[in-house]
Amino acid sequence: MGQRGSAATSPLSHKIQSSPLSADFLALPQAELHLHLEGSLQPKTVCELATKYGVSASTQDVLQRYAYREFLEFIETFKWVSSLLRAPADFALAISDLGEQLLAQNVVYAEITLSVGVMLLRHQSPEKNFEAIIAAAESFHSRGLQLNFVFDAARQFGADAAMKVVEAAERCASKSIVAFGIGGDELSIPAEEFRQVYEKAGVIGLHKLMHAGEVGGPEEIRQAIELLGAERIGHGIAAIRDPSLIDLLAERRIPLEICPQSNIRIGALAKQLGLSEAQIEQHPLPQLFRHGIPVVLSTDDPAMFHTNLRSEYENAFRMGLEDAELKRIAKMSFEYAFIDENAKVALQRSGKATSALS
Ligand SMILES: [Zn+2]
Repeated sequence: MGQRGSAATSPLSHKIQSSPLSADFLALPQAELHLHLEGSLQPKTVCELATKYGVSASTQDVLQRYAYREFLEFIETFKWVSSLLRAPADFALAISDLGEQLLAQNVVYAEITLSVGVMLLRHQSPEKNFEAIIAAAESFHSRGLQLNFVFDAARQFGADAAMKVVEAAERCASKSIVAFGIGGDELSIPAEEFRQVYEKAGVIGLHKLMHAGEVGGPEEIRQAIELLGAERIGHGIAAIRDPSLIDLLAERRIPLEICPQSNIRIGALAKQLGLSEAQIEQHPLPQLFRHGIPVVLSTDDPAMFHTNLRSEYENAFRMGLEDAELKRIAKMSFEYAFIDENAKVALQRSGKATSALS
């Protein structure tokens, strides 16, 4: 079972011993593929934005909002935080906050999801916001962190609004926008209504993502794949309820972007398991992974769920995954990233072991 304690002679062992992960796992460069910018805002940054706009909010207030019993409560908090992102400079601040968090986790590559549907709802210019985001992201490049972006629509806003998100991506015309996705309330509008939106996303060269099977059933996952051509599934934990779907995901090598702490915090795991409450050890990640489904481990909304990438790997360890399996999963986050093969190899060579321990 892994190499726990194998770094006991290291001068940094006091830090390593606080984690059940092996020293050589902690030294690996990491990639993260399911990560929302708005959900990464630390309370300190939220307070900074609140002060800027004359909104009364202490750190304690923010932490209270960062606690939920179910998905719709979480959506309310997400809306409140994104209401404080009003100008391009605010988005730049958010990227700077997130970039520092990622560097501290030894992340060398991330695909950041931007709620462009929310920007449009608030009559903001995605082009101007994205210009500020890209400028802030570039400042991390020289420090060993490459960022790409996913333009995300909110499902409950409907297909017309989602099409406007794809059109915004087309206008931004940036190689850094690698995919289009849909998040939000997956129980609101049937997947088939978004067919044309995904077709258009494909035409302009974007990869296709969708949140499905988080609080919705396995049929949401199947429809995302078969009707919309989704290449990776956000969450997808409902797959555990449908053996034929598990086979399909494994055969077609469609990755699930698994975010364990998120599944606990909003009650999604309990819901899928038919329980009033669920523990991290009950998460189906080991079964899904050992069935041959690719898995990319992620934090989803790290600040809002009080987590980070290392914590998620520690969660996976608690579920019973062994060191070699955790390393395989870490590698998959590069293999299933929307970058070319040469970049995948180069990025995995680029991590600095020491920063994993900070
Ligand atoms: Zn998400």
